Amino acid sequence: MLAFLPGFRPGLVHSMFSSISSRIIAATIVLVVICSGSFLLLSMKEHEAIYKDTVIGHLEALSGNLAEDLVPILGDEDAPLELATKLLDLEVYEHVKYALVFDDKGQLVQRYLAPAFMREAHPGQKLPSFDLDDVSPGVQIIKGELVAYRPIGDLAYTLGYLLIVNEYQEPLGQSNMALVVSSLPIALSILVVMIALTVTLNWHLLSPLTQLARFTNSIDSSSNYHLRVECQGDDEVSNLGKNINAMLSRIEAQSDKNQEYTDALEQQQRALKKLANYDTLTNLPNRKFLMEALRIDLARSKRKQTNLMILFLDLDNFKGINDSLGHEAGDALLIRVSKLITKQLREGDVLARLGGDEFLVLLNDIEDQVVSLGIKVAERIISVLEDPIMLGEWEVQTGVSIGIADAISSDYDPETIIRNADMAMYQAKESGRNTYALFQQELQAQTMRKMVIANSLGKAIQDSEFCVNYHVKVGLNGRVNGLEALIRWPSSAHGMISPAEFIPVAEHSGKITAISRWVLQRVFSDSAEIFAITSEPLVVSINLSAYDIKDPNFIEFIRDQIVMHKVSASNFEFEITESAYLDNFDEAIEFIRQLREMGFSIALDDFGTGYSSLSYLTQLAIDTLKVDQKFVRVMEQSPRDRMIIEAIISLAHRLELNVCAEGVETAQQMDFLAEQGVHQLQGYYFSKPCPLDDMANCIMDLHRSRKLAIH
Ligand code: C2E
Ligand code: MG
Ligand code: MG
Repeated sequence: MLAFLPGFRPGLVHSMFSSISSRIIAATIVLVVICSGSFLLLSMKEHEAIYKDTVIGHLEALSGNLAEDLVPILGDEDAPLELATKLLDLEVYEHVKYALVFDDKGQLVQRYLAPAFMREAHPGQKLPSFDLDDVSPGVQIIKGELVAYRPIGDLAYTLGYLLIVNEYQEPLGQSNMALVVSSLPIALSILVVMIALTVTLNWHLLSPLTQLARFTNSIDSSSNYHLRVECQGDDEVSNLGKNINAMLSRIEAQSDKNQEYTDALEQQQRALKKLANYDTLTNLPNRKFLMEALRIDLARSKRKQTNLMILFLDLDNFKGINDSLGHEAGDALLIRVSKLITKQLREGDVLARLGGDEFLVLLNDIEDQVVSLGIKVAERIISVLEDPIMLGEWEVQTGVSIGIADAISSDYDPETIIRNADMAMYQAKESGRNTYALFQQELQAQTMRKMVIANSLGKAIQDSEFCVNYHVKVGLNGRVNGLEALIRWPSSAHGMISPAEFIPVAEHSGKITAISRWVLQRVFSDSAEIFAITSEPLVVSINLSAYDIKDPNFIEFIRDQIVMHKVSASNFEFEITESAYLDNFDEAIEFIRQLREMGFSIALDDFGTGYSSLSYLTQLAIDTLKVDQKFVRVMEQSPRDRMIIEAIISLAHRLELNVCAEGVETAQQMDFLAEQGVHQLQGYYFSKPCPLDDMANCIMDLHRSRKLAIH
């Protein structure tokens, strides 16, 4: 029903009665109203009964007295006026509506109508008729009226009958109303007093409960489990408060514990995330992190049609430093280098460590000038790493080779851009280290060619597509005293391929040991023919790769070949490049020791280019240093390179090593080197490498030529 009231909201009633206090007040009001109502009803009932008895008593008395007064009048037949007058006595009775007097035969003799009744009655309205036979003497209620019926005179000599009709319902209603009106103020006062009492009681009894409720609400909203409710006394609410406090203490302890667990878990998560995404040594992002960042940045660049650039960095000479000074120094170097590089970058650029001594720089959000920016950053990094770095008491000289590739020419593909930068980095390494190279499509062509070569090598080894040329080495007496075996690959599919091109490919594709074994077998089997060319002592040199040193079966293979070809080890020399022993220094020492034990001599090939520490020389048991042809080639124009040659030769003398200078192309070079005290010379000035079949003529020509007149 309430729902139809204007402005009624269903939630209103609910919120009104949501508190215990308002519910108690409402219940009290309802109770008081019910009690008061019941009391009033009972009072009215009682009042009605008393009223009825009183009115009946009065009517009985009135009708009795009037009937007695009518006896003499009704006996006198001539006194009808007196009868009417007598009946007028009824006027003083407010509620008598009318009265009827009948004779002994039941005929109406006289009637009296109260003036009020007459006024209210309609004109022509008949008096209610009563069948006198149904009416018994006395007072009774008939059809809602109080009817008094009395015989006039003695029962034995009845003169007539008197019937008085008295109003009953209306006066009763008025009386009841008067009762209600008189008792209403009392009932209302009781109601107000009860409500006031209830509110006060409520206030006193429920306020601790309300406070408790407010307190729990504040805990719920703030989640502050340090709060405590104040509770004195020993009543139910205080006990409830104490229980809540105890519960809070437990929750607090549990939540502290949970917080500790959560902190530990978060810490673990952070550590795991860091481990997964960052390099533990340098704290730089690792390869995984970088690849994700690169993928996102490339996708963004592609969308925005901008470019980005990556720099692939590989430290020069890191392996050497790591091996000679130990891993701790190597680690310290990586940390220092990473810090130095970071300083050269802008905010937003990413420097990641890919592993080992490989780093990658990601230059982001480049609108234009992309290449020049990449070069600028590369130059800055190269320049900062050119200065020697102090590692404790050691001063180390490192350097960096950098490959640069951009997103557009790599088709916005993460793997391609890294591969391109890697290719460019190798290009930089090959072109002398401590420099940078930009990725260009030709580089890709070169890489393709390397792949083709790698694929063809397997078949070439199978089909023995190779041959060996020999290059003479000349002593200071002008006589040929050595030959260097140099492999040649006249490929049936690709024409003549230089060893400078296919040997690195063979090394990277794992085919070099097979090639080295093939060369060794070929040279040993050629040896009878070689030593028959001249009666003078000759030492034949064979080049070895870094991978041969790592091959655990290679020494055994050589031993078998010596026996098989019945050769003497003292007639042979192995040339090992600096990079070969720098990469595996400990293995190289052992490898060289075993070769020397067998009787072979050892030459360090291309000496001076491999960034090796000079301290290596004291640890390696070698016989000869081969000065790299790069120094020889430029010595006439470069005083600096001349000084390096002088230093190498002087060092070799002090270490009592032989020196062979390779790449001699002019008489001046020959003269200078001879003057400095090299023991052996090799180069196109004397002869180009030639097949064994031509070697006899070659040596003969050489011996006859003026070139021999060194001194
Ligand atoms: P390398 O051992 O330093 O050999 C010297 C290279 O310089 C040879 O090139 C030789 O032909 C070239 N050369 C000698 N004198 C001169 C000169 O006066 N001017 C110029 N411009 N070049 C000169 P080649 O034969 O092309 O060999 C290149 C490299 O390939 C060799 O350098 C060596 O590292 C490697 N190699 C050659 N044969 C073998 C082999 O059988 N096994 C292994 N592992 N490597 C080999
Ligand atoms: Mg050599
Ligand atoms: Mg060489």
